[in-house]
Amino acid sequence: MYEGLGFLFIRIGNGYFYRQRIAMKYLYLSAALSVLLSACQPQSEEITKAQEPQIPSQEYLVAATLWVQHSAEYRALCYQAYEWAGLRLHSILQNAPSQPAVILDLDETVLDNSAFTGWQIENDEPFSYDSWAKWTAFAEALEVPGAGDFLRLADSLGVTLFYVSNRDTSALQETIQNMERFNMPQLKPEHFLLKTNTSGKEDRRAEIEGRGYEVVLLIGDNLGDFHEKWDKADTATRQRLTNESRSRFGQDYIVLPNPIYGTWEGALYNFDRSLNDSERDAHRKKALRVAPL
Ligand SMILES: [Mg+2]
Repeated sequence: MYEGLGFLFIRIGNGYFYRQRIAMKYLYLSAALSVLLSACQPQSEEITKAQEPQIPSQEYLVAATLWVQHSAEYRALCYQAYEWAGLRLHSILQNAPSQPAVILDLDETVLDNSAFTGWQIENDEPFSYDSWAKWTAFAEALEVPGAGDFLRLADSLGVTLFYVSNRDTSALQETIQNMERFNMPQLKPEHFLLKTNTSGKEDRRAEIEGRGYEVVLLIGDNLGDFHEKWDKADTATRQRLTNESRSRFGQDYIVLPNPIYGTWEGALYNFDRSLNDSERDAHRKKALRVAPL
């Protein structure tokens, strides 16, 4: 009897442990499955990252580049600047300066390099001196509208032209070749003062005056083309200095539009060249004046 009861307990006990083992098996199996499934699925943070639109680093240049390349308004502004420069030159020459000279910047003043920016956008390539050197070696920049006519007018009036540019001195021959395509005058090397050691242009302007020339007009797309005081100034100071020099604009300072690049942009980044693309983007967004809607 006791043996019978004992056997019964053993059977019941075995059944209990058997069910327990089956239950544990299912538990292990479902745990393993859930680990496997979670490994196959991206985590929530990864999903957010993957779903974030990846904006190419040069995308912010698209509108400005299209404006230069396609808007008739850009063209009209360039004509306006050079037409006015011609009128000013006629007027100034009535005072018979002894050795009149006009100083012009080249890039985005005489030569339109917006195709280079187009290449940067298409290839998502930030500016680099290597790619810039390849571009200038092509000698394929276009003429800024009105530049050639003005240069030929100044030349015909006996005015000496000086091209003060931050193109590298090694790009001189290609630059001359590029300008020859548009029949621009005074293309001998002595008319070019390209960048040697500094991007500041004050020394080069002083050198021209030192040669006995009276600089009657300065033409550029960047305020550093007119005076060094704008070179390292922050955005607010640039605005203030411009207000203070207001009477010079349209008199002896003739400005061409350049929405693509310039010291104005460097000032937004506090001239910090170590910033990466996303930090530069953050500086741009922070600088926006935003309506309180
Ligand atoms: Mg320029």
